[in-house]
Parts: sequence; structure tokens; C-alpha cells
Amino acid sequence: MPTRIATSPMDISHLLDDLNPAQREAVAAPPGHLLVLAGAGSGKTRVLTHRIAWLAEVEGVWPHAILAVTFTNKAAAEMRGRCESLLKRPTRGLWIGTFHGLAHRLLRLHWHEAGLPETFQILDADDQQRLVKRVIRDAGLDESRFTAQQGGWLINAWKDEGKRPDDVDAGGNPNLRTWLEVYRSYEEACRRQGLVDFAELLLRSHELWLAHPALLDHYRQRFGHLLIDEFQDTNTTQYAWVRLLAGSSGQVFAVGDDDQSIYSWRGARVEHMQHFLRDFPGARTIRLEQNYRSSSTILDAANAVISRNEGRLGKALWTEAGRGLPIAVYAAWDERDEARFVIERIRRAVAADTRPSEIAILYRANALSRNFEQELISHGVPYRVYGGLRFFERAEVKDALAWLRLLANPADDGAFERAVATPPRGVGEKTIEDLRSQARDGGRSLLATAIDALAAGQVKGRARSGLGDLLAALAELRGMQDSRLHERIDRLLELSGLRAHYEAQSRHEADSRAANLDELVSLARSFVLSAEDEAAGIGELPAFLSHAALEAGEGQGEAWQDCVQLMTLHAAKGLEFPMVFLVGLEDGMFPSQRAVNEGDPGKLEEERRLCYVGITRARRQLTLSYAEKRYLRGSETFGRPSRFLTEIPPELLEDVRPRAQVSAPTLPQMRQRMVSDWEDQPAIGLGTTVSHAKFGEGVVIGFEGSGAHARVHVRFEDGSSKWLVLAYANLVVLG
Ligand code: ATP
Ligand code: MG
Repeated sequence: MPTRIATSPMDISHLLDDLNPAQREAVAAPPGHLLVLAGAGSGKTRVLTHRIAWLAEVEGVWPHAILAVTFTNKAAAEMRGRCESLLKRPTRGLWIGTFHGLAHRLLRLHWHEAGLPETFQILDADDQQRLVKRVIRDAGLDESRFTAQQGGWLINAWKDEGKRPDDVDAGGNPNLRTWLEVYRSYEEACRRQGLVDFAELLLRSHELWLAHPALLDHYRQRFGHLLIDEFQDTNTTQYAWVRLLAGSSGQVFAVGDDDQSIYSWRGARVEHMQHFLRDFPGARTIRLEQNYRSSSTILDAANAVISRNEGRLGKALWTEAGRGLPIAVYAAWDERDEARFVIERIRRAVAADTRPSEIAILYRANALSRNFEQELISHGVPYRVYGGLRFFERAEVKDALAWLRLLANPADDGAFERAVATPPRGVGEKTIEDLRSQARDGGRSLLATAIDALAAGQVKGRARSGLGDLLAALAELRGMQDSRLHERIDRLLELSGLRAHYEAQSRHEADSRAANLDELVSLARSFVLSAEDEAAGIGELPAFLSHAALEAGEGQGEAWQDCVQLMTLHAAKGLEFPMVFLVGLEDGMFPSQRAVNEGDPGKLEEERRLCYVGITRARRQLTLSYAEKRYLRGSETFGRPSRFLTEIPPELLEDVRPRAQVSAPTLPQMRQRMVSDWEDQPAIGLGTTVSHAKFGEGVVIGFEGSGAHARVHVRFEDGSSKWLVLAYANLVVLG
């Protein structure tokens, strides 16, 4: 198949006009491998997008011959849209997606060669844990020592490194040997049930090419151009995948920033940036140094923080933008005060015409979102949380998906167990255990075993009618192949009893759960099979199921909804917002306790890169906050400000103190505290000794409210405790 079409003289200014000379050099680079190494906001993603358009329009490369990898599905959709608007035509045939999404498409196309059943299904993280748990249980291991979480983590780490059980040397380590057995049994269970986890998608598609040179050749000839965004976060298998596909003729265009490598805990290897020049002969490097995203204040702060890391590839980043606003720092008394402050600022900004969607709240750990959500809800500010519990991970949605999975793949035992369990249909653990052991002995699926057991009259009483109903419902749904997917799901909700089950549950909760089931029907109705998936012969049901497994919560909330964005720093990679709040900046929170405790400089440096990512998301205005006291996961902690705060030059910061009456530590004081021991300083805040004209001396034990409404809770010498309004109490601080 030709990979080039004839080019004609044309005006290409639209491809180059909005670029600086270094960017233009990258976009219009002559054939060969290219690495664009550049800091945040310097236009890497823009360059990559323009390069695709350049290849198609100027070099005459067919979209069909281009494969582009992005970090999220959302980024892929945006990049495709942008390319189409540059090219003024659709980009049918262009493969663009995440590594996982692309690997999935390959496996669907070549399931047979890959040694998979045609009906294979993707196992999401949650289902993977369940399966590992079952394997550990079946092996009779001590589940407190061999946890499913650790097992899942190990298996994924091995797969990310490209290792099958036989490739791992357990040496004399008995623990590791046990884990390897778990890995083996888990692989066997996946094989039997036709399941593929996330890491497997990549590893399996890599092995597919290795085992089938003709197939590899086909793809090498097809994809003459590979373009990869966020290259610093590729793991070993992904890198091997790219190298293999590129072969000796494919041209690789990789863009990345070593300072933004934040996924080493998931197997990413920043070294690939250095290896690139060695592994891709003749590769050139182009550096982009102008930042177009942020004010110089924000950029200076980011540069100052990241300069503390060692072993960087080294980049200079500058901007023509003015200083803009200073970076606000807010020291909150506790997490509620922090949330109140942030939402108050947001409300003011929105009242002054900032759109909610231009505002992001970024945090280190998902658990931090709750307080902000509460405060947003109580003020009626629309918001959405990325990457929390995904829609497709909600229990009721997974219950319905289990039925779809069973329809697509009758060997999926996990899906069968889920369908049997909810809503309860009188099939007890004893019956299930019998079925499991029969299935194991016969090497068959639970569903097939259940059908036989029922026919042979082995299942009695309520279990019999319960199972019978389930099988009849499945049969009816199976007969609906010609119906539209959403009609099938609608019917499924009736036949399975799921809708009635969730409607009958306690009112408030049931409302949203039943609504989520309806939402699933709507999602199926609006689901559009991509042209590339359709061309690959992937049906609507498998495509919908893989979408459910691979979608990272990015598509949640309607696009038209203008709302405040909440997400972890990890999820914010590649994005930008005019107004950013970086919250929870306490040592132990960010940098994380683990990074602090283990004293591992590598971990701390990764946290610092995460901080760099966070700061560089902001375009106009950045606000940093921390709480002196935080109630988290059931216990109270007293934090000291994050060390990263002290790494920002003070002249870039502005201490925000709306509660003039409360003499909480100012920023200079905070810095001083960090130098010596936090606890030993005359702490003002919780634990401060105060004196009141009438009640005498006391100790501050709580705070609430802010501004004119700030209240303190003081325990006095006589044992009484009182809430006092700060503005009127005239407290004297004694130390
Ligand atoms: P990150 O490292 O965060 O992924 P990036 O290097 O990919 O950032 P982009 O997201 O491509 O950077 O660009 C950052 C911002 O700068 C975007 O808003 C983009 O449109 C803008 N930009 C990039 N190059 C230019 C340019 N030459 N002129 C004007 N704006 C530009
Ligand atoms: Mg980018």
C-alpha cells in the first residue's frame, strides 16, 4: 500500500505561522528520528500536532501511515481535532491513542495470532485485584501476608518490565517464589477466562510482533511515522514496543521533558530520553526554550523548585510574558479552613468573570478532594473530579457491565460471579464453591459448569430457580444481537433485576444509583465506534466494553458543563488552566510521607518533579495552600509547610491573611520555623496560650470560620471551654 500521495505546491503558512524558529525546525525537520527535549509549556504537544499535519500535507504522508501516542484518551481526541482543523479534512486511518488503546486495537485485530479468544475482555484494575485475590485464596496462602494489592502490583511491575514468570529469577527467596507461583496461576486464570489486564495489552502485543515477523513487517511498512508525546514516562515494554515497530525504517518523533517524569512508580523510565539518541541512529535533538503558558513569576517559581534536583538533562526556560500576579500562599488552620478559603477565592474569581472551567484544584492524593467538594457543593459551584472513582467503576455500573461481559465472553468467571451475586438470587456461597471446584476440575468456565449442573439437577431449592432465571435472562439477551446496544442494556437492567434492586434500596442512595444505570443506557446510546475500530472489525459491544475499561475518567461530566476541575497532580500532566490552586502543601502530604520517611533522594526528586508539573499548569494565577492541622483517614495530623514552599524565592510569594485578628504565622515566620524545629517555636494557632479579660488564661483548641466570622475554641484554666468571636474577644497572645 502506498504511504505517500503526490504533493502539490501549497500555502503552508497555517502550519508554521504560530511557531517560533525552534518549533518550526522541529515541525519541518527532514526525514529521520527526532527528540524534542523541552520544559513545560514550551509547545511540545503543539509541535507534535503540527508535525502530523506537516507530514500529511507537505510530505504527502497518508494519515494511514501515521501512529501517534498520547498520554490520555482525551489528549488523543483533542489532538485529532486539532490536526483536522489544521488540515481542513478528516484524518481517517490515522492511529492516535494511548499505548493501551493502540495495543488493544492490535490485539482485537490479531487475537488469533496473539493466542487470545476472539471474545477476550479487558480486566480493569479493580477486577484484576479481585482475580489476584481469588488466586491467592485458591492457593491456600495466608491472605494477610500475601495481599491481593501487593500481588497485583508485582505482577504489573513484572509485565511492565516485559517479564513472564519464567523470566524472573527468584533465587533463594521463598517469598518471591510464592509470588511467582501466584503470577503463574493468575496468568492461567486469565488465559482460561479470556482476560487481559492493562499491562498485558502492551506485553502481549509486543510478543505478538516478536512471534509473527510477517505481521511485524506489515505494520512496519504501514506505520512509517511514529510520534510520541510525554516520552519521559514510557515504561520498558512501551519503549521496546516503539523500537520494534520502528525497526530500521520507521521514523520516530518523540517529545518529552525529563523534569516531568512522574510515573516511575508505575514502571516509567526517564532514561529512555537518553537512550533514544543511542537506540535510534542519527537521531537529532531539538530544544525548545520559550514558555508560552505562564507568567514569569510562575515560571521563575517552577524553575527555582526544579533546580534543586540533580542529574537533570538541563534546560533553560524563559518567557516573554510579564511578571503577572504574585503567587498567593495561604496557611490554613485546618483542612476545612483551607477549603473555605479556596472556594471563596474561586467564587470571587467567577463573580469577576472567570469561567469555572478555567480553574483547577490540584492535590497530591485523591483523599484530599472531599473537603473541597463539600464546600463547592454547599455554594452551588459546579465542579468535576477527574480520576476519582470513575463512572465505569461504580458498583452498580460494574454490575451491569458484568452482564455485558458475560454476553461478550461466556468464559469470564469474575463477571459470572458478579451477575450471580447482585441482586441476590438465592445462590449461596456453598453452591458457588461447588461450581468453582467443578469448573476447576473440568477446566471449564463457571457459566458452562452452571448450565450443566442445572441440567443434571445438581442444584436444588432457591439456588435452582435463581440460577435458572439468570440463565434464561442471558439467553434472551443473547438473542438480541440485532438490537442496538442501548436497547440491550435497557432490557438487561430489567431482566437482571438490577434496576428494581437499586430502585428499592434506601431512597437517597438509590436515586443516584438507579440514575447511574440510566446513564449507562444513555452512554451506550451516544457511543460512537471510531472509524479506526470499525475498520479493524471491532464490534459495538466489545468496543463499548473496552472503552469502559480504558477510559480514565476523562470523559466524565458533559463537555458543555462549565465547571471547576479537580484532579491529582498526576492527572494534570499536559493540561493548563488560567487559575490553579495547589493545595495540601504539607510535608508528609506533599512530598508524600513515603518519600520523606524513606530518605530516598530518588523518591523526593520525583515528588519535586510532580511539584514542577503542578506549578507549570498555571497560566495567570497560582495559589498555594497548606493546613496546619488536617483530619485525614480517621486521624488528626499536624503538618509543617511543604519544603517545596521554601524552595520558591520569597519575592515571588504573597502571604494571604484574611483573618487579621488571628496572628497566625506569617510567611517569613513560617520559613524560620522550617529551619528549626516546628514544635519548639512559640506556635501561634492551635495550642497557643491566650488570656481573656474575664475568663483568664486558656489554650486554643480549635478554630472555625474566617474573616469577621473567625471563632476560636479556648479551654480555660477553670476547665471550661468557650467559643469566642475573635473580632470581639480581645485575646492577648501569651505564647
Ligand atoms: P507540557 O510540558 O505541560 O506538556 P507542552 O510543552 O506540551 O507543555 P503545549 O501544551 O504544547 O506545551 O503549549 C503550551 C501553551 O503554549 C499552549 O497554550 C500553546 O497553545 C501555547 N503555545 C505553544 N507554542 C506557541 C507559540 N509559538 N506561540 C503562541 N503560543 C504557543
Ligand atoms: Mg504537552
